[in-house]
Amino acid sequence: MSASLPERLDPWRAAQAARVFTGTIELARLPRLAEAVLGLAPLAQGQAEVCYRLAFERDPRGRVRVFGDVDAVLRLPCQRCLGEVAVAVSAPLRLALVRSEQQAEQLDETLDPVLVEDDEPVQPLDWIEDELLLAIPAVPRHAPGECEAPVSTDASLAESEPLLETPPERDNPFAILASLKSRGRDDEG
Ligand SMILES: [Zn+2]
Repeated sequence: MSASLPERLDPWRAAQAARVFTGTIELARLPRLAEAVLGLAPLAQGQAEVCYRLAFERDPRGRVRVFGDVDAVLRLPCQRCLGEVAVAVSAPLRLALVRSEQQAEQLDETLDPVLVEDDEPVQPLDWIEDELLLAIPAVPRHAPGECEAPVSTDASLAESEPLLETPPERDNPFAILASLKSRGRDDEG
């Protein structure tokens, strides 16, 4: 049994019913993520959307757990060439709903605590957005050798003011070595 994700839901009932939510989300519904990326690129199976799966369950002591994963291909500025690079991210979700800081401290380290009020609905889109924001690489870059070459938009400018100065030949250590060798040969003769 799976359904698309409502904006707000009662986590206790969802866990009681062992609800599983799967689907895709457009970037427009995740405004914080939309601000942090250039956009989304299509996933392997089609659309430029976020793909998610969330399964609610109750542990033996009646506590709510949410397991799942979130996948997206983020379009980010490459920090080496400033061109656009598509970075596939896949983030696991392992959440434990808690009612107090004390409960959060007692959690297994593999679970992330989510503080909720007793009868408050939760907003799972926020969890998905948080996971994707955390999954953004600190320094997004193309793979080595795949950066975009710097493009000169004005050929005449490039001719009059070369960006790369070629070093004068006399500074070339190998040229100096060659001249020393030839001089030595002259002395012998
Ligand atoms: Zn690059």
